[in-house]
Amino acid sequence: MTLLRFDGVGKTYPGGHRALDDLSFSVQAGEMVFITGHSGAGKSTLLKLAHLSERPSAGSVWFDGKNLERVRGKQVALHRRRLGVVHQDHCLLLDRTVADNVALPLLIAGLAPAEIQRRVRHALDSLGLAERAGHRSTDISTGEQQRVGIARAMALQPALLLADEPTGNLDPSLAADIMNQLVGLCRQGTAVVIASHDLALVKRMKKRVLVIDKGRLMDDISPEELADE
Ligand code: ADP
Ligand code: ADP
Repeated sequence: MTLLRFDGVGKTYPGGHRALDDLSFSVQAGEMVFITGHSGAGKSTLLKLAHLSERPSAGSVWFDGKNLERVRGKQVALHRRRLGVVHQDHCLLLDRTVADNVALPLLIAGLAPAEIQRRVRHALDSLGLAERAGHRSTDISTGEQQRVGIARAMALQPALLLADEPTGNLDPSLAADIMNQLVGLCRQGTAVVIASHDLALVKRMKKRVLVIDKGRLMDDISPEELADE
């Protein structure tokens, strides 16, 4: 089933800079896709269009069979509730515990306390953060903070996870660890779209890779092609 579809999408920012140009691709439910390309290629813009923090100037973006053009006003928040977002700067609340940080979006989504507790425990367990649950976010390592960001997205059980340079400032072994956690999330049925300029790391994952240059889709590499290398 197609979950996300870009159909001839263009994005021109005010001032006339064209960030995306006639971009078309689909992402299946539960699929993992890397978006790679140089800085300025348009990767973040692509994620922002799926998140509805930007709107296309041409073409259309579809999510779960719905044209996002029609998702306006209060529906935007409902759309975002089906998405998880992971950033390089994980935006943790530093004076709160790890568990609180993971629980917060679930509270906002209005889940029952027992369900929140269950999901938080599961997310922390799967990311190896169980012993950190009661620690303040300032008192854990950068790599752990990054994993808390992923646990938070994971606990929401989103249909789609958008990750923008999730391994940005991490050393290579930590970066590989984070990537593997995202693969795990994918196995649970979440489609995962990861923007990264680290082509070497991306290729090692042997998942589908969309290569973007100056806002255009240059290549769509299947996992099978990468497996042969
Ligand atoms: P990437 O994530 O691949 O580095 P971006 O999507 O952030 O690329 O940016 C693509 C291009 O669009 C860049 O040239 C960038 O400077 C430009 N751009 C991004 N956001 C804006 C904005 N809000 N206003 C104007 N130009 C922007
Ligand atoms: P990234 O490559 O991850 O988008 P940037 O540092 O390029 O990071 O961009 C940070 C923020 O600034 C983004 O929200 C982006 O939309 C915005 N931005 C990027 N380029 C421009 C630009 N030329 N004019 C205005 N805003 C921009």
